[in-house]
Amino acid sequence: MKDSFFSNTELIGLIGHPIRHSYSPIIQNYALDKMNLDYVYLPFDVPMENLKNAVNAVLALGMKGLNVTLPHKEKIIKHLDELSEEASIIGAVNTVVNDHGKLIGYNTDAFGIIETLNPFKDRITGSKVSVIGAGGSARAVIYTLLRHFKPDEINIINRTQQRADTLVNDFSLKMRYDCFHTFELFPPDNVELLSSSKLIVNATTIGMYPDIEDTVTDIDESFNEDQIVFDLIYNPTQTRLLQLAKSQGAKVVSGLKMLIAQAAKSFELWTGLEMPSAEIAEKLEYFILKNSYK
Ligand code: NAP
Repeated sequence: MKDSFFSNTELIGLIGHPIRHSYSPIIQNYALDKMNLDYVYLPFDVPMENLKNAVNAVLALGMKGLNVTLPHKEKIIKHLDELSEEASIIGAVNTVVNDHGKLIGYNTDAFGIIETLNPFKDRITGSKVSVIGAGGSARAVIYTLLRHFKPDEINIINRTQQRADTLVNDFSLKMRYDCFHTFELFPPDNVELLSSSKLIVNATTIGMYPDIEDTVTDIDESFNEDQIVFDLIYNPTQTRLLQLAKSQGAKVVSGLKMLIAQAAKSFELWTGLEMPSAEIAEKLEYFILKNSYK
């Protein structure tokens, strides 16, 4: 961590509410320090009523930019000058760049998902996939699948089916895709759907620390050795869902690679430089194992 700051030290902020569980300050400050850059990355707990003031502060203080997390990812859009294509279609922003007084919003989660799923591209293209969840990160997953992986059919399974229906209407219009089906999350009814999917993505909070015994399904027959199961959760790195899918022979992928890749893309947008991702992934995995947040 830097021990001296000067008038030209660049400031990058993270805004959200609550904020204390985020790993982003660890990742970004480690990378900035490692690359000897005169920047500092600080978290700010910003309740919703202060969102507009916080965005104005980026301009007033000449900050380089922001990371944005829950609950501000969607609400921040109306305070920005411009959106990238993916942020506009997903409808959520996780990175803001202050480009000489113009605030531009990006969604680097999409980039993190591409990096994570690219090794499986041939298996995903033209196949049936199931996404569990219909929140902000499920929207980033669906955008990325449609734009880069082109599956034949996407099933969206969510506790609140109406939210999945709204998502489908939105994406059908924005991306002209009509092979969506929506289902309510009810594991005994979802077995056939999941077992016949080449890719299963968990984009819900179920199974996240500290509720590590929770899972979107505990039915073995939902999984097989011909599948890829991607859980966006990164704490723990091996969720109960991934443990179960692995025991049935599926290829499993945690959210850690996505976390690092989305952070690397944000880092590049602010600094124009490549983050030392492999080294940071190793450090972070060790940190998560040792220090699960209380
Ligand atoms: P979100 O917008 O709040 O959406 C939460 C989703 O989880 C919704 O589909 C919600 O269903 C479902 N859900 C929550 N509690 C549930 C319960 N008890 N039973 C059934 N469904 C439940 O959150 P998000 O931003 O999409 O984040 C989802 C997960 O992705 C989180 O674990 C987050 O840490 C992870 N994530 C990882 C990365 C990464 O880089 N690896 C990046 C972003 C997010 P309803 O619609 O019915 O409420």
